[in-house]
Amino acid sequence: MKLNKAIIILALMTIAIPSNAQNNQTETKAQNMNNALTPRRQGLAVIASLEAKGDQAGLEAALADALDNGLTVSEAKEALSQLYAYTGFPRSLNALGTLQKVLARREAAGITDNPGKDADPLPAGYDALKQGTTVQTQLTGKPFDYSFVPATDYYLKAHLFGDIFARNNLNFADREIVTVSAISALPGCEPQLIAHVSGARNMGVSDAELRALPALLEEKVGAAEAERLRGALKAVLGDAHTPVQTVDFSVWPKGQPNTAYAQYFTGNSYLAPMDGGVANVTFEPGCRNNWHIHHRQVQVLICVAGRGWYQEWGKPAVQLVPGTVVEIPEGVKHWHGAAADSWMQHLTYHKDVQEGASNEWLEPVSDEQYYQE
Ligand code: MN
Repeated sequence: MKLNKAIIILALMTIAIPSNAQNNQTETKAQNMNNALTPRRQGLAVIASLEAKGDQAGLEAALADALDNGLTVSEAKEALSQLYAYTGFPRSLNALGTLQKVLARREAAGITDNPGKDADPLPAGYDALKQGTTVQTQLTGKPFDYSFVPATDYYLKAHLFGDIFARNNLNFADREIVTVSAISALPGCEPQLIAHVSGARNMGVSDAELRALPALLEEKVGAAEAERLRGALKAVLGDAHTPVQTVDFSVWPKGQPNTAYAQYFTGNSYLAPMDGGVANVTFEPGCRNNWHIHHRQVQVLICVAGRGWYQEWGKPAVQLVPGTVVEIPEGVKHWHGAAADSWMQHLTYHKDVQEGASNEWLEPVSDEQYYQE
């Protein structure tokens, strides 16, 4: 008897091992690619996040990219339509309107977009509440009941996870990539974002795919969206991440890498020249310029976003927040930069510029000096 039991256990283990090995192989393959997300899924993620952000101009470009990268018209419509349940009809309808415009323009330009496949009709006698309850349980990993408001519980189960998720022109994993990317653009919805990162895993999205999302959103949507998602990945996957305060580059642009002055900076800074001799400088968290002196000219700093520091030699550092204006007298040794945990943007210009004005760059601000703040 005991032997028989052992054989059965061994047999079960033999069945289990190839299946695990297969999963590991898939994971490794995905991680080895530059981006674990297919171009089609990258398109879904970006359009979903821009829909939620309400960035129509960005969405217009992203929809064209997504269609060029294999997303079908049916899938694009479905993703933006599903999102009404997460971002509201105003955002969803605006995005669908933008899609309509993009498709018309592409057609006029002679581009033939793949219409894709419509969702199949639901079987006769389809029970949305029953099916939705099953889907929601799979997504959350356990039965979910919102008994405080039974009507909302019903809408979630029967409508969102029953009616909408039953449409098979997007699969569950696609839908969770759409949802996670959209909620990343909704401030104050961190608990839902965490729940859906977890839900995405339960619906078959790989950890490698999830880990590829923040950099994609950072590039195509914004820093704040990427930062929120990194926070959720930390909560669910335990990934190391130190939270930072982001700034909205749609207000003051990030500009281009400040390569000309990089040798005088610790960390990365970006430069966006403006009219009238004004420059908009963006510092990443922890970035600061070397100690330096402006000779025969006065420098003015106007902090416009994030949080940072200005320090004169021998004096305590002064915090820079939006609205802080600093006038740096000529000949004074100083530095300016971001806080360790925040991006910072300041405008700068020089005044009272005299003949022979110059900047004298000195030693870097050491970590010891910087963290004294
Ligand atoms: Mn300066």
